[in-house]
Amino acid sequence: MERLLQPRRRHCHRRENPFDGAAKVRLFSVALIRIFAAWSTSADEIGSDFTHWEMVLRFRISRILAALVAVSGFGAVGYAAANPAVAVCAVSDAIPSIHLNDGTLVASSTLEPDQARVIQHLLLDAKGRIRDVFGEPRSKPIVLFFDDSTRFGPFRLNEYGSTQFIGSRTCVLIGPKGQNVDVISHELMHAETADRIGFWAKFIELPTWFDEGLAMQVDFRPEYDIQAGVIVDSKPVRELRSARSFFASDSELLTANYAFAKNEVTLWAKRVGYLSTYAHLERIRQGETFESAIGTK
Ligand SMILES: [Zn+2]
Repeated sequence: MERLLQPRRRHCHRRENPFDGAAKVRLFSVALIRIFAAWSTSADEIGSDFTHWEMVLRFRISRILAALVAVSGFGAVGYAAANPAVAVCAVSDAIPSIHLNDGTLVASSTLEPDQARVIQHLLLDAKGRIRDVFGEPRSKPIVLFFDDSTRFGPFRLNEYGSTQFIGSRTCVLIGPKGQNVDVISHELMHAETADRIGFWAKFIELPTWFDEGLAMQVDFRPEYDIQAGVIVDSKPVRELRSARSFFASDSELLTANYAFAKNEVTLWAKRVGYLSTYAHLERIRQGETFESAIGTK
């Protein structure tokens, strides 16, 4: 697990599988949310009461997470520690949040007077980028901005960003190093892909290289671009269907995987047309296999 965790702090991606050994813990977590939500603050309670909000984050969330671990037993300790973003997503109901004009639910750990406006601008820019490349996005994930990866007690979150899925709940977690349009667009694209392809098809049919390659189409960080004039064969990245195979522990290899995935999806999208991407994902949602809808060439 650690092998996979280290690079997550440098890159942003989602890495969840409902069929792994921790699925039961996750489902149990969802059940616990419902219990804890009963004593959580309501979504619009936050207002400008920063002191109250800080108190909630520092004590209530930590306490809820601690209770989650305690009640879930030993197995969940390792699981939650290894997948802290999942734990935070599971208890996101308990995190005070605000509704932006577009319906996006945003919980921020730094809700200073200007912060909501900054976040709103970043989200609008990121969604605008997705719109420009693929067409209007429709997913409305819970977006959690945090400025301290140790904010949630013993749980350390990816300092850049990650997208987590628990059932129909999608959480985009943006860390202090990810508060830029590239990372936010990347993570929102994961949410959009999941929305379009559907919950089951995402896990059964969607290869990690394609998911990451789609997200990289709206992520313009230059380190993931293959330099002009350099000839590479990016096709082998198509073998990296699973998260385990894609998210290599070696940082250089991982960067290459992202770059190759980006290149392969760019070649595909230019061939079929970027604006047909949603339709292709919908075909998989309707039952086509990935190979049939997207092709393997
Ligand atoms: Zn990603």
